[in-house]
Amino acid sequence: METTGPWTRATAAAGLMKDGEARPTVFARMSASAAEHGALNLGQGYPDDAPPPQVAEAAVEAIRQGRNQYPPGAGEAVLREAIAEHQQHWYGLTWDPAREVLVTTGATEALAATVLALVEPGDEIVTIEPFYDQYAALTGLTGAVHRTVPVTSVAEEGSGDLVLDIDEDALRGAFSQRTRLVLVNTPHNPTGLMLRESALQAIVDEAERHDALIVTDEVYEHLTFGTSHRPIATLPGAQDRTVSISSAGKTFSVTGWKIGWITARPELVTAITGVKQWLTYSSGAPFQPAVAAGLGLPDSVFHDLASDLRERRDLLTAGLREIGFRVSIPEAGYFTVADAGPLGEGDADALAARLPVEAGVVGIPLSAFYRDGNAGAASSYLRMAFCKSRETIERALEKLDAWATPRR
Ligand code: PMP
Ligand code: GLN
Repeated sequence: METTGPWTRATAAAGLMKDGEARPTVFARMSASAAEHGALNLGQGYPDDAPPPQVAEAAVEAIRQGRNQYPPGAGEAVLREAIAEHQQHWYGLTWDPAREVLVTTGATEALAATVLALVEPGDEIVTIEPFYDQYAALTGLTGAVHRTVPVTSVAEEGSGDLVLDIDEDALRGAFSQRTRLVLVNTPHNPTGLMLRESALQAIVDEAERHDALIVTDEVYEHLTFGTSHRPIATLPGAQDRTVSISSAGKTFSVTGWKIGWITARPELVTAITGVKQWLTYSSGAPFQPAVAAGLGLPDSVFHDLASDLRERRDLLTAGLREIGFRVSIPEAGYFTVADAGPLGEGDADALAARLPVEAGVVGIPLSAFYRDGNAGAASSYLRMAFCKSRETIERALEKLDAWATPRR
């Protein structure tokens, strides 16, 4: 039976078609490898942390109260109101919870429904490269053309660390008359980069000039280690053309709950709902009031999570540096980028396949976040997650140190 179709285009666009066979995502492969070899998993980005107790209790309570049947397609009113209040409280953005907020099955469904709703074959989508793997898959699914803005390593005085940034001229140059949307991800996975205000402004200027939509993936909005997150929708003139996407997964350490959301103007929400209702219709009934409770927690809960994560970032980056990797110090998120080049490992793809066996540690090659052949200098980079427990990070560092000793 012939089974090629949109899925094969999506799989190929995400770089997962190898020798005529479709491979699972890099996260699935590397987590399977961790399980197979009993290796410590600094690969897939999910935390070891428990959710805040108030959030967990609210979900248990909702199940006990019988909130177990289909929620409304747009999401429970209590959650839509909490999302609108959260955006007002943290960013000063005003949204009408009845018409400008849509609850989704994670940021993943929000991204898929948005792109499927608004992009026609041949339209261009601009993203930063490296990018979260789903972005390439969605361009393949819709038959869009993927234009990218490279993150480059910026020479650094003194410390010898890896410093990553995007070039704003390249950013402006990625737009054309065919640009339908620019998919912004800040804080950024995999690099932890937070786009500077001038870069955000350049995106808004170019989107206006080319009448393009801005879609912004802000799932790491609260996991910042110094500078606060600035949503692009807060820039003058941006709110009307921006679809902002976030999710509870990272903020409350509940990646398996898959509660995400969109805030946008009513006509955009209507279009996106027009696809979303044929994907899942709705999901996560008891988790929706629990996430609503979480969004209303005192600011200190959000700050404490970020500062605890920051300590683990420091633990992992200092340890990797000592072992001999060249490391980036991410400003936000779950991940650090470690260059294995100084340890004589130029091919991080091959290294990531060997590390679970040789060192008992899993990392993700950064090349997985690039289109085939585009990784360039990043070919020797690994993405390592520090959202794991201190004990896991410490044990992983010990194992990597033992592995690296003969290489130094
Ligand atoms: N966007 C980015 C940048 C991510 O890293 C992830 C996964 N953590 C997602 C979207 C998907 O989010 P969710 O788990 O809420 O579907
Ligand atoms: N967002 C997570 C990461 O980047 C993984 C999500 C997934 O497995 N699809 O590691």
